[in-house]
Amino acid sequence: MSAPARWSTADTEDVVCCLCGVPGTLVHDVAPFGVVRCPRCRLVFVSPRLRPEALQRLYDDAGYFEGGVYGSGVSTDAAAPASDGRLSPAMLLQRTWTAGRLRLIEREHGRPPGGRLLEVGAGYGLFLDAARTAGWTTSGVELSRTGAAHASGALGLDVFCGQVEDAPLEPGFAVVCAWDTVEHVPDPLSFWRTVRSLVADDGVVLFSTPYWSSLPAWLLGTRWWTLKPTEHIWHFTPRTHALLLARAGLALTGVVRSPLAAANAGRLDSLVGVARPIPGA
Ligand SMILES: [Zn+2]
Repeated sequence: MSAPARWSTADTEDVVCCLCGVPGTLVHDVAPFGVVRCPRCRLVFVSPRLRPEALQRLYDDAGYFEGGVYGSGVSTDAAAPASDGRLSPAMLLQRTWTAGRLRLIEREHGRPPGGRLLEVGAGYGLFLDAARTAGWTTSGVELSRTGAAHASGALGLDVFCGQVEDAPLEPGFAVVCAWDTVEHVPDPLSFWRTVRSLVADDGVVLFSTPYWSSLPAWLLGTRWWTLKPTEHIWHFTPRTHALLLARAGLALTGVVRSPLAAANAGRLDSLVGVARPIPGA
């Protein structure tokens, strides 16, 4: 796959492994970006990658969430079907994930909804809206100004616009979720450390990401549709997820890889992970 022509070397910066502090070894050359692997811990990341200012421009683009799971009418009502009343296959999938993930949260948390739930990477607020309806007291964080404005404006959700490290949040959340988010953040170790500081000691963390050891990633190489080197700047496996989470004081206690599970429906190259605070960490 080729990177969009809109980006040049001037928009990029070199980074090192967030766990080991060393540069990676080139796996895929997708100029002006590089997909590299840490020689020590095997974590895969993008370097050179977009500078933070360029990334902010990308996420603020109103078109970023258009189409796909959000349908075509996000500016008016993200949760509503198209004008002909039909749901697109992507929107049906979105609803399946939401229902499956809410059930998974309830099972993993072990108590009925009702506590405080934080979603990091809330997008347009569709999941958070469903979680609120299910009975959770919700808070959200979203980097995209377009997404955050819709979630708080049209849906009336409590959503902070920015990185989670900068969000003024009261710790002690029963549940923290991050759906398709940690592969986008500047520093996943800092991200998980912040999540650890926000989740209650008896709370639970649930997340989803694409994964590098999936069959599509392995078979398709640079043609893997999820490679997207502008946005997906870290690539994990269950093993590197566990390494990274442990360094942040969280234990990976579950991984759902089946595309038949509702929480991960139809996703051949993604997983859902469950993590819990390590006592004393
Ligand atoms: Zn490393």
